[in-house]
Amino acid sequence: MAMRIMGLLLLLLLLSTDAWAEPADLIVKNAQVYTVDGSRRWAHAFAVGNGRFLKVGTDEQVMPLAGPDTEVLDLAGKMVLPGFQDSHVHPVAGGVETLQCDLNSAESPQQGAALIRKYGEDHPDKTWIVGGGWALPNYPEGQPNKAMLDDIIADRPVFLTSADAHTAWVNSKALELAQIDATTADPFGGQIVRSADGQPTGLLREEAIKLVAKLLPTTTDEEYDQGLAACQKLARQLGITSVFEANATESILAAYRRAEDSGTLTLRVTASQTVDPELGPEQVAKLEQLRDTYHGRLLRADSAKIFTDGVIEGHTAALLEPYLDKPGDRGLTMMEYPAMESLAVALDRAKFQLHFHAIGDRGIRQSLDSIEQAQKLNGQRDARHHIAHLQLVDEADIPRFRRLGVIANIQPLWAYRDIYIEKLTEPVLGPDRSRRLYPFRDFLESGTILAAGSDWTVSSMNPMEAIEVGLTRKSYEKPGEAWLPEQRLDLPSLLAAYTINGAYLTHREGETGSIEEGKFADFIVLDQNLFEIPSSEISNTHVLATYLEGTLVFSKGQKL
Ligand SMILES: [Zn+2]
Repeated sequence: MAMRIMGLLLLLLLLSTDAWAEPADLIVKNAQVYTVDGSRRWAHAFAVGNGRFLKVGTDEQVMPLAGPDTEVLDLAGKMVLPGFQDSHVHPVAGGVETLQCDLNSAESPQQGAALIRKYGEDHPDKTWIVGGGWALPNYPEGQPNKAMLDDIIADRPVFLTSADAHTAWVNSKALELAQIDATTADPFGGQIVRSADGQPTGLLREEAIKLVAKLLPTTTDEEYDQGLAACQKLARQLGITSVFEANATESILAAYRRAEDSGTLTLRVTASQTVDPELGPEQVAKLEQLRDTYHGRLLRADSAKIFTDGVIEGHTAALLEPYLDKPGDRGLTMMEYPAMESLAVALDRAKFQLHFHAIGDRGIRQSLDSIEQAQKLNGQRDARHHIAHLQLVDEADIPRFRRLGVIANIQPLWAYRDIYIEKLTEPVLGPDRSRRLYPFRDFLESGTILAAGSDWTVSSMNPMEAIEVGLTRKSYEKPGEAWLPEQRLDLPSLLAAYTINGAYLTHREGETGSIEEGKFADFIVLDQNLFEIPSSEISNTHVLATYLEGTLVFSKGQKL
């Protein structure tokens, strides 16, 4: 009997573990913590130990976990959020682009020309001038041409991708080296833009980009590493602790691996592997092998990327009805539908998460069709397939997302009437279809899970700017009318899309995405409470500190 009582006492002692547990490494107190847990509870404090949240609650509940070596951070009422999760971004390729001839800052053809000229002068040893980030609406009808480049650089080939990466602008030298002339046929899923006499103008769309891209000097490992480092620096400043890498070749996976091995990776990375539209299901074995090879603690590569179509502004998005300015033209798909379906089915069977790029209503429908077919043939599983971009969505397809368990991977920053919409989208779709653009609220009300991403370097990586636009459907920079205001989202939904739903998308909601006991302590401190300021102020909010697994990886330099 005595033994049993002793045993019981011991058990009771063990159950009140707070007194017995290791003291916390870090305690954050006197904060406004939006936990993004299941009930969207607020807390005031939390304790971190071994990289995880040990306790979340009030100051009184958490302070007993302090020991002599515990760092205690009094935040004086500042807001804390889980680290942001960017669900569609190109960290390595984007980072490499920022180190090349970067045209993202140009707002006119003249500014673009000056940047190209300067880059050429600064890099006399480069055999190719490679870069990107030019904006289609800066040029008449979105169409710069080879002569404009020949005027700047004629003796070396020039290759510049548009900001949306769906068009390449090249000079005559590059066309000559690629042997592209009036007699060259368009590849499937691509277009060589031509003038009335059949001559290439210097613009290559979608699959035609590869005709020149294959000639470019290969990117070195060092350049990939520098690109990733540049991106990570920016991500830490913006409070991003997890990313969904939207298109990873083996070279890109290897760059993440090197960063993880050297301890410089400050992001959880879930990578979507590049799928070759010219190859069928025979490529799946290779992708499975890469998935096994590149499985680390922070890095995983268990998703596969399928480009269904292109972009509306390049007339390459696949539409159900024709573009108004091109009778009979319904845009492009990157693969014939039966081939895309069999590839999707094979990838799903190999337990890859499917990640589609789909912009036009026909592209989105085909993506859903292929997922539906995969479920029919392989059975339903917890796959969490997702479709990114979702620009023009047919009403009939909205309920299919929830029914098929497909996540809507949205880029909230794109949902206002910018020059792409005004000059290159509304005129080619007409008023009726233009009301169906970025229907975020319809998705939310249909019960679809929304995850949010930046698509950087296509657009800004800053989640604050995206959240503001998702809330207001207005530019975060210029005053203006709300565009399709009925599709506005609310703040809790947008914050969930940038945190817990991103974690769900990457199957990591058990360990990240919210501030809850047992999860990794990935969190950020903001300079203002997003719930207490006008929505137009959100884009001016700054991240003061970013923590990954309880370790400070970014601090804005001022005392917290
Ligand atoms: Zn992308």
